[in-house]
Parts: sequence; C-alpha cells; structure tokens
Amino acid sequence: MNLKKSLKPIKNKLQNKNRLYHTIKRLYTHLSELSNEEILDYYNVNSLKELEEHIEHIKEILKKQTQNHKEEREELGGCFCVDSRGDFKYLYEHKKKALKQIDYSMKIKCVKLILYACPFHRGWHLSKI
Ligand SMILES: [Zn+2]
Repeated sequence: MNLKKSLKPIKNKLQNKNRLYHTIKRLYTHLSELSNEEILDYYNVNSLKELEEHIEHIKEILKKQTQNHKEEREELGGCFCVDSRGDFKYLYEHKKKALKQIDYSMKIKCVKLILYACPFHRGWHLSKI
C-alpha cells in the first residue's frame, strides 16, 4: 500500500478544516484571537460539521437578504462578507482604491486599517486592526 497516497485524503481534510476556521477568523475580526474550540463554542456547535452547516445557513440568509436588496447586492458584487456588527463590507475591486482608503483613514481619522483579500469574491476588504 502506498502510504503517501493513503494519507492524502486526511491531509486534504485537515486543510479544509483549517481553511474554514481561517476564513471565519479573517471575516469576523472579533473572532480572530479565538482558538478553534472557542469558535465552535461561540457558534454554539459541537463539531466542525455542525459549524459548516451553520455557516451555510448564514450564507443562505445573507443571500436572501441581498436578493431583497438588489441595489445593495450589485454594489457588493456578489460578496456576502459582513463586519462584526453584521453590516455588509464594502468590496474594493481595485487594490489601489483600497490602499487609498487606508491612507485617507489614517490621515483623516487616525484609524489604521488593514487590507485582506475577500475569500468569496475577487476583490479586497478593509478591516480595523
Ligand atoms: Zn467579501
């Protein structure tokens, strides 16, 4: 038996697992300091499978919401990322614009923002540190 081959599905599974936690931590910055177990706790679920179902459920709700707000959805360009207050995040299609906003925010509001790629759509989001 080829051990390397037989380990591959396990490795993929682990990567998928970490990817979901990673995505959640990036999307919901207030959760970024939490451990994986604490995230499960936060969503009141017992396993990764339940967490996945929960996230799918949230995405469905968001999708329905955006379908009711067509203009908003068009502005979002199909991205359903929300901030810690549950508001939709602005999706920057161009990195330049997002970087400009970071400069502006620092100079005018003295708020330091960081740039990260949207995990669901092509574009960038800004997040407070
Ligand atoms: Zn997004």
